[in-house]
Amino acid sequence: MKRVKYTIANWKMNGLNGAVKVVNSIDRHVKKTRHKKSKVVICPPFTLLTNFINAKTGINFGGQDCHHFNEGAFTGCISAQMLKSAGCKYVIIGHSERREYQKETSKELNLKIDIANKYNLKIIYCIGEKLSEIKIRKKILNSQLSSLPKKINIKNLIIAYEPVWAIGTGKTPTIGEINSIHLDIRNLLSKKIGKSKSQNISILYGGSVNPSNASDILNLDQVDGALVGGASLKSKDFSKIIDSYS
Ligand code: PEP
Repeated sequence: MKRVKYTIANWKMNGLNGAVKVVNSIDRHVKKTRHKKSKVVICPPFTLLTNFINAKTGINFGGQDCHHFNEGAFTGCISAQMLKSAGCKYVIIGHSERREYQKETSKELNLKIDIANKYNLKIIYCIGEKLSEIKIRKKILNSQLSSLPKKINIKNLIIAYEPVWAIGTGKTPTIGEINSIHLDIRNLLSKKIGKSKSQNISILYGGSVNPSNASDILNLDQVDGALVGGASLKSKDFSKIIDSYS
């Protein structure tokens, strides 16, 4: 079966300078090259979302997080319903920076995924081990996957494998390791949700993807695209990554 491929930009708390130019330039590139090999998604800070969505480019947009309730006294938070009503189709959940700095727990992530699923957002669920956990990687990944709600619509689920030690460091696992870890993740998913469903879930790699390593990573048989941080802020670099699928 052919899984959908995704090239997803995670802008984090960046993008105030020249963001419109970056989006327009990526949009032009996708149109000019008639790129069809992956779905291109940009997840900018919340304040930029509506402007980008209203500009009606060919790009899809997503939020970088959502709260697990719809509304209420949660200062500084945004709900899945709000993202949906702004026109978002995607949301990143469980990024390692949020697990670390916002102390997001498995229980909370389970509720966030559940509500994002309810609003039919495509969930980019991030999992990955820390440097100190490499030896117990499979156990860590398995426990992070246990946040997936039993009733999730598989069509709404994208997994992003992001080794924490590879994010923003210029380091990556070897190409062979990336492929075999993705296979491990698919086998773990298969045990949780069944073999045939697990075959349909796109598993992306994230962590120091750049124009030089993208083609080796993106053309692995177990890799269904990339979640890109730093290199997604420069339209030239991100466009080269988009061009890396063979
Ligand atoms: C990320 O934080 O999701 C990420 C992949 O970052 P970078 O590409 O900068 O390593």
